[in-house]
Amino acid sequence: MKVHEVDARAIFSSCGMPVPPSRLVLNAEDARGAAAEIGCPVVVKAQVLVGGRGKAGGVKLASTPEEAVLRAKAILGMDIKGIKVEKVLVARAVDIASEFYVGMVIDRRSRKPLMMVSPAGGIDIEEVARATPEKIIKTVIDPIFGILPFQMRRMTSALSGDKAIAAKIGSILSSLYKAFLGVDASLAEINPLVVTPAGEVWAIDAKINIDDSGLYRQKQIAELRDESAEDPGEVKARAAGLSFVKLDGSIGCIVNGAGLAMATMDMIKHFGGEPANFLDIGGSSSPEKVLTAMRIILRDKNVKSILINIFGGITRCDDVAAGLMEAKKQLEVDVPLVVRLTGTNEERAREMLAGTKLISAATMEEGVKRAISAAAAR
Ligand code: GDP
Ligand code: MN
Repeated sequence: MKVHEVDARAIFSSCGMPVPPSRLVLNAEDARGAAAEIGCPVVVKAQVLVGGRGKAGGVKLASTPEEAVLRAKAILGMDIKGIKVEKVLVARAVDIASEFYVGMVIDRRSRKPLMMVSPAGGIDIEEVARATPEKIIKTVIDPIFGILPFQMRRMTSALSGDKAIAAKIGSILSSLYKAFLGVDASLAEINPLVVTPAGEVWAIDAKINIDDSGLYRQKQIAELRDESAEDPGEVKARAAGLSFVKLDGSIGCIVNGAGLAMATMDMIKHFGGEPANFLDIGGSSSPEKVLTAMRIILRDKNVKSILINIFGGITRCDDVAAGLMEAKKQLEVDVPLVVRLTGTNEERAREMLAGTKLISAATMEEGVKRAISAAAAR
């Protein structure tokens, strides 16, 4: 789950990080009072759950409360990467002498938290990683020990040669680590972390993604979810208990089990196709779940065929077949469906689907190939 900057700032701040004061406003006129209260100059920032707002014109400085209103007017209603700006943050602006990147993720290879710092801050970190990877200092942190002193020195000295500034950065890195663990984040980053000409250090941007599997014990944070800023398909899927991730390809996938879903996507890629989504209908799948899955996938206009790949165990093939029949009845299914059903009650399922236009496949490989050729033919 992605958290808005305003909430990420509050989380960082509660962990002791220096974050400039700010107010969230929903209409431009309110920016005047907010700017006056905070003290100018201020920066007016679009609150949308995508990066690169600065480049898109969604971050603007204002030197008076009147100017803050004008900037808010310009930003509210703006379209940033397909998302309409409904809220802006008015934050105290700071003077920038230098900008750094600092961030944390879970490192899959070491299965531990990974801290990344870079003197190349303020710009797209993916671009830094691609063009000049040596400018990113990576530190794997063992959660038993936390950040060790030598690791801390290596990171802070890479960012500043000034002892006083390095110490301030060190305390910010400790706060970042504390925040990351405290909210079950999968990503936490400050880009940029800035040093002012006077030698103050401030976190002027804040980004946090929460691990969805941790949300059950992060109730306060779960309530911050902003569904209007998320992919509508993913919102529907979550409500129905499906795990769904939208992708850019043309072959819709309905699969039971995350492992089989991944293997299905891999095989589609292997034979030259592109999956339109990851979708796991889970273990005990009811016909309704299949119907919902079909509804979500059919909303995507890129989808040219759908592959239903089911390995029946607890999931019964006849339940899946019943869901498909219901989908054919209720929805406008205008793309070919390729079905590979095997396991519990597969004979029953096959009888139910006999006489329909579904393309049936005996093996996963055959199913994948048929789904690819059906999509290519359209
Ligand atoms: P992003 O583009 O979505 O990552 O949004 P940021 O919050 O990182 O802002 C984009 C850029 O606006 C920053 O890299 C800065 O160059 C600039 N900016 C943001 N806040 C301030 C500020 O307080 N003072 C100054 N001088 N520039 C700022
Ligand atoms: Mn940023």
